Amino acid sequence: MTDSVVEEIPADTLSLLDGTEEARYGDFGIPAAVLAEMTHRCPLQCPYCSNPVELERAGDELTTEEWKRVMTELADLGVLQFHFSGGEPMVRKDLPELVRHAREVGLYTNLITSAVMMTEEKVKELADAGLDHVQISFQGAEGTAADLIAGFKGGHEKKLAAAKMVRDAGLPLTVNAVMHRQNLDQLPEIIEMAVAIGAARLEVANVQYYGWALKNRAALMPTVEQLDATTRIVEDARERLKGTLVIDYVIPDYYAERPKRCMGGWGRQFFNISPAGKVLPCHAAETITDLEFDSVKGNKSIEWIWQNSDAFQKYRGTGWMPEPCKSCDFREVDWGGCRCQAYALTGDAGNTDPACSLSPMHDKIFKLAETEAVTDDRDFKYRNYANARTFTAAE
Ligand code: SF4
Ligand code: SF4
Repeated sequence: MTDSVVEEIPADTLSLLDGTEEARYGDFGIPAAVLAEMTHRCPLQCPYCSNPVELERAGDELTTEEWKRVMTELADLGVLQFHFSGGEPMVRKDLPELVRHAREVGLYTNLITSAVMMTEEKVKELADAGLDHVQISFQGAEGTAADLIAGFKGGHEKKLAAAKMVRDAGLPLTVNAVMHRQNLDQLPEIIEMAVAIGAARLEVANVQYYGWALKNRAALMPTVEQLDATTRIVEDARERLKGTLVIDYVIPDYYAERPKRCMGGWGRQFFNISPAGKVLPCHAAETITDLEFDSVKGNKSIEWIWQNSDAFQKYRGTGWMPEPCKSCDFREVDWGGCRCQAYALTGDAGNTDPACSLSPMHDKIFKLAETEAVTDDRDFKYRNYANARTFTAAE
């Protein structure tokens, strides 16, 4: 790919990744953007982390050469964007080498990072390697609360410093703020912070309750009042900051009438690659423990895995759907919602997502969420390898 193709990537390029834009090549064509989880290692311990409860160890990660082969294969297939994620991708010492390779094969590169390991030297090294964009996650608007959520003292200050380094290096910046009951009241300050540090885009991402977040749901579930206020704050800020800051916002679907169009539909617009090389229909798919996922380490091509593997075929389209989805007018709008959430809350990924008001389980779950939201539970079960041993995904 030439630079001119890279320049064609829209300013709100990350919308391709979160499924708010259609994939460039249409349904079942290879997705335009791929999320690569380089590692599950991370200095932070966010209790809502979307990594699976059973974290992969460094020894299981794809090697430098394996990641390079994956990138070349993806570029040959027509993928345009490669998102370096984790865990914390900066724990990988080969990150600049991998960014350079991604650019050499013509991929647009985005680094999704906690930024606590960022130094001026590393930013320069990554920029020199051709990094196109940086996304930094923030846990709050001020250090004390943010560091408590992240389980990492001094992290917030490091993130602010890193954001400046990124902007000083001329790289575009997105702020990702994962929101829940313990930090939703800080949203106005988070929006101001995003503007102050020079972000062009802010993702206000409400926690999705599977994996680690499900284990911490009682401490994280927002109240209905908080969500009503949040929607107003986002709408006001969008109007006020037009031309300065793009704000993405999705409400937690426990409180919605219909579920989210998760990943644009299972196996329709998105896949990601786990640290060990498994090709997954979404970053939480490994929480569905009765599915087997093919790996880039095997003898199948990525294209074959995307088109034909059992895991992608299982919930693709509408043929798998039970009632009420099967005869519902929205079945090709939301594709039945989130399979990981259906599995987490009903024990069967083939059920209607209970976030849907038509699901027979919806009322029970909504009431449980409402009850949890008014507790004063702040007892985070932090995401780390010790807790990963304590919990099992099926628990
Ligand atoms: S959510 Fe937190 S713990 Fe999980 S990878 Fe991101 S920064 Fe690390
Ligand atoms: S019944 Fe199924 S298809 Fe209809 S709105 Fe609910 S989740 Fe979507």
